[in-house]
Amino acid sequence: MAENPNDWELETKLVRGGMMRSPYGEISEALYLTQSFAYDTAEAADERFGGGPGFIYQRFGNPTTQMFEDRMALLEGAETCRATASGMAAIHVALSGLLRAGDHLVAGRALFGSCRWIISEWLPRFGVEATYVDATDLDAWKNAVRPNTKAFLVESPANPLLEVTAIGAVAEIAHAAGAKLVVDNVFATPVFQKPLALGADIVVYSATKHIDGQGRVLGGAILGSTELMTEAYKDILRHTGPALSPFNAWVLLKGLETLELRVRRQAENAGKVAGAIAASSKVKKTLYPGRPDHPQAAIIANQMTGGGNVVAFDLGSREAAFRFLNALAIVDISNNLGDAKSMATHPCTTTHRSMPEAERLEIGLTEGWVRMSVGLEGAGDLVRDVSRALDAA
Ligand SMILES: *Cc1c(COP(=O)(O)O)cnc(C)c1O
Repeated sequence: MAENPNDWELETKLVRGGMMRSPYGEISEALYLTQSFAYDTAEAADERFGGGPGFIYQRFGNPTTQMFEDRMALLEGAETCRATASGMAAIHVALSGLLRAGDHLVAGRALFGSCRWIISEWLPRFGVEATYVDATDLDAWKNAVRPNTKAFLVESPANPLLEVTAIGAVAEIAHAAGAKLVVDNVFATPVFQKPLALGADIVVYSATKHIDGQGRVLGGAILGSTELMTEAYKDILRHTGPALSPFNAWVLLKGLETLELRVRRQAENAGKVAGAIAASSKVKKTLYPGRPDHPQAAIIANQMTGGGNVVAFDLGSREAAFRFLNALAIVDISNNLGDAKSMATHPCTTTHRSMPEAERLEIGLTEGWVRMSVGLEGAGDLVRDVSRALDAA
């Protein structure tokens, strides 16, 4: 009986989706470390360059990379996925492909630092203007729309304070304005949130985070309908060269096999760690999307099936945050996230250092905040390490 992979459970898609076996019948996906491809005849080359099936050059596509793309598309419920060399390449291409000189973009103001740079410094060089909004305020999205608005960008949950946006409602506002909604779904992961099903047009990932999940390679992905992916991105991907290395695609394929197991355990651990943090008298505020006291808990219940693995908490001052970080014995001080190893960072002096103070204050990011990415260590060890460090703070 022929199986339709679209009907598989998520776990099956993660392990088997997109597999293309060579005649050797390998179990582990083959790594095709090749830049180009040979054609049996000049006629065959002619046909392939004319758009026929088959590979031409690694910048356009590669069998290992395609397996990663097909697996990602299957688990996201997208018609098409294109892989990129990093998450930032994915976001850059996702925006550039939708916008041209004279267009306008509306973006949630709490964004990964490099995304803010693309929007505030890079796109204006090409005549694209942007308005930042409080992503939790639907009226702010509506009021920011101009006749030339072509795209919306939002990260939900957002970095670093885990603000959540009602994706369906923002998609409606975007579509009423004739704009496309791009969602950066890194913090939620494809396991806990499906933005396309909620109404988004394009989803982007930094595969560097949970999809690798073991700290090895950079990667990114853009997903959407075949029509939009072709129209907006096919040429830009071919000609500007942000292609993912097949080696990295292979590592990411292996990462996907265990993604569901890892992020579920990470979220379980994060819930326990967040509980210990919230119970401490040293902590002024704890934010974790898996807790009922999250400010957007009602939206989270509607659009996410888990809280993710990132917890943010306010220790009141930079000194207290530094004392906390320096007292950690298991958890690393590091700015990455989604890794098997737990890590914590002080956003004001690391990830959000280049954000002007006035903008940091707008998103509520003061000097006492710590962001922790909870990993796969034993929950007891993590709670003990964090509790001891909170005592030292
Ligand atoms: C890390 C990250 C990115 C950038 O990804 P890279 O793979 O580092 O280029 C973009 N968005 C979010 C939310 C991220 O966490």
